[in-house]
Amino acid sequence: DLTLDVVRVRRDFPILEREVHGKPLVYLDNAATSQTPQQVIEVFDDYYARYNANIHRGLHTLADEATAAFEGTRETVRVFLNAGETREIVFTRGTTEAINLVANSWGRTNLGPGDEVLISHLEHHSNIVPWQLLAGELGFTIKVIPVDERGVLDQAAYRDLVTERTRLVAVNHVSNAFGTVNPVREMARVAHEQGARILVDGAQAAPHQAIDVRDIDADFYAFSGHKVYGPTGVGVLYAKAELLEAMPPWQGGGEMIRMVSFETPTTFADIPHKFEAGTPAIAEVIALGRALQWVDEIGLGLIGAWEARLLEHATQGVGAIEGLRILGTAPEKTGVLSFVVDGAHSQDIGLLIDQLGVAIRTGHHCAQPLLAHFGVDATCRASFAAYNTPEEIDVFVDGLERVIGMLR
Ligand code: PMP
Repeated sequence: DLTLDVVRVRRDFPILEREVHGKPLVYLDNAATSQTPQQVIEVFDDYYARYNANIHRGLHTLADEATAAFEGTRETVRVFLNAGETREIVFTRGTTEAINLVANSWGRTNLGPGDEVLISHLEHHSNIVPWQLLAGELGFTIKVIPVDERGVLDQAAYRDLVTERTRLVAVNHVSNAFGTVNPVREMARVAHEQGARILVDGAQAAPHQAIDVRDIDADFYAFSGHKVYGPTGVGVLYAKAELLEAMPPWQGGGEMIRMVSFETPTTFADIPHKFEAGTPAIAEVIALGRALQWVDEIGLGLIGAWEARLLEHATQGVGAIEGLRILGTAPEKTGVLSFVVDGAHSQDIGLLIDQLGVAIRTGHHCAQPLLAHFGVDATCRASFAAYNTPEEIDVFVDGLERVIGMLR
């Protein structure tokens, strides 16, 4: 049977050989950022040593090579998302900037008093705050899809909340705090039935499962490079071409214009360039392309199945710890284990377990409304990637038992 060759996968990640406080690094903070394979690191060396040049404007060899690599990545991303056309792929700084682009361009031209934007109780702050900032200015209303005690969105409540006043549903594909996988395909269908658009925040889905924006029928889909084995500073906004074409530019500057004049109105470049003002993160975009190829070489099916095994192993392991409560018990979730422990503060657990070489996340995970709903202001979160092993989970669980013993 097909199973991921984790020894081989780990060989690609130089960072996994380092020690922390004299112990082998056990990196379980993948939902915050994933580590970077050598093949992706090498892109930077290659780019700056051989063909560093500004794109789209040069008529020289280096500029041509950089442009070809940059635009080649747009095609890699198109295939990764199964989008219909490369012009539906806009490069941004990350998921956060992608959502802000939609809010400021699409939002400003489509939202006003009496309109409603539906978000969910599971959202990351980056899919809450842009809508709050805009609602204050434009006078539309934000409504929130509730979660149940497992951290699953209440679909019956959702169907009731979507009305002819709903303009946009903005929801994550996978929750970063709990790992809940949301039924975005079905949610898109419900939204479209009422004439609403749907924006899917895919930051936590892209590293773990194959994405098909056409099957979901997403109007907008966003993800970040640094969570999918790529670099920081780059992300993607997918949007249906007809939407991008109708949307006004957000940021103005070079690269996004057709003709600038003081006498007649400035005209803009075709999509997607209309939304890419200024010099982009060229090396990072090319490196993101390499990261997506790396993912494809292994296969998201294998990665997802491997992470599910790790999650099961970890869930069983911590299940034996007295007074530990797992938050987020959705039947369908990715490799995210969020928990609190009676008599031990999350922050203290995180600090002490770091002394054992184990990196986990503690805090509110940029999802304060969700944690508040569950009556906590912080959790510990272990999150898994393709290179983690069952042995590492054992080190984590043993370490957790030790530090909890010390704190009680
Ligand atoms: N949405 C979700 C679900 C996330 O997990 C994150 C990153 N924690 C973001 C959005 C924001 O991504 P970025 O910081 O890369 O813009």
